[in-house]
Amino acid sequence: MDIHKIVIPTPYDIGDVNAFLVKGEALSLFDAGPKTKEAYEALKEGISAAGYNMNDIEQVVLTHHHPDHAGWGDAFPNAKILGHEYVDQFLRKSPEFLEYRNEFYRYHLKRNGIPEIFIEKYLENRKEMNYFGSNPLTHCLKEGDEVPGHPGMKVVYTPGHAQSHFIFHDEKTNSVIGGDLLLDSVASNPLIEPPIDLSYSRPKALLQYRDSLIKLRDLRVNKVYAGHGNDIDNVSELINLRLQRDYLRAKQVYELLNEPKTVIEITKSLYSTIYKTQLGLTLSKAIGYLDLLESKGMVTAQLVDDINVFSRT
Ligand SMILES: [Zn+2]
Repeated sequence: MDIHKIVIPTPYDIGDVNAFLVKGEALSLFDAGPKTKEAYEALKEGISAAGYNMNDIEQVVLTHHHPDHAGWGDAFPNAKILGHEYVDQFLRKSPEFLEYRNEFYRYHLKRNGIPEIFIEKYLENRKEMNYFGSNPLTHCLKEGDEVPGHPGMKVVYTPGHAQSHFIFHDEKTNSVIGGDLLLDSVASNPLIEPPIDLSYSRPKALLQYRDSLIKLRDLRVNKVYAGHGNDIDNVSELINLRLQRDYLRAKQVYELLNEPKTVIEITKSLYSTIYKTQLGLTLSKAIGYLDLLESKGMVTAQLVDDINVFSRT
């Protein structure tokens, strides 16, 4: 694969994000950094180092909708923008969608025992839409599609970290452009997000994420071009490590359930110092571990005064 990595700064804790310029029948950029001036400069420089300019880019292909990846679809006057249809909601940001998204979080946070004051704070943080691009998708991709302009490169749906998440499998070189599915130095977080059908049922993000990791492992690829950090060669080994680590954390949560508890109580015990500043992340993790224990029949939830209370089975 004729691939060129571009490292882009972000304002987020994760640090730099990677975009990949791939020359096939079409010239495509996979992911496009956050919509900041610094990221724009890095993109421009990287594209010029590969011998092209911004007008040459024919397609921007997005691995998922998170703002550190989906910011600069707007930067390329001649490019189509491709991704999962869910991404489009975050590019268009219609008032109806934003309101639905708030309602979704309100409903689920309340059910999990989060006090009103935290809920509003959480929604405040979620509002941060400025690093997203605003040009809508020109083309929706689906599981099993071939990426236009790249014969032999297949779209693989891998939800969990994001509900819109795709990886792109180049069958000739047996490598994937992996977005945030598997990262070399940090575990990727299965965040709680509204489902792609925009209903009120909550996707079990950690369970989806584990299935997606197994889907990647089954491809037996030689290399993952990851969305952050280094390319990954020891793919199965790292996937096994990630799967095992989460299972161990889930067992710790099981230990905490010596008496029935709510999600917020578990989150506080697990992350006593950071849960207030990183509420979305820590809640997502706690909910994920409970989903995992529930799927193994080890815990069960009961609704008490409209709040989920978890106990051992
Ligand atoms: Zn992400």
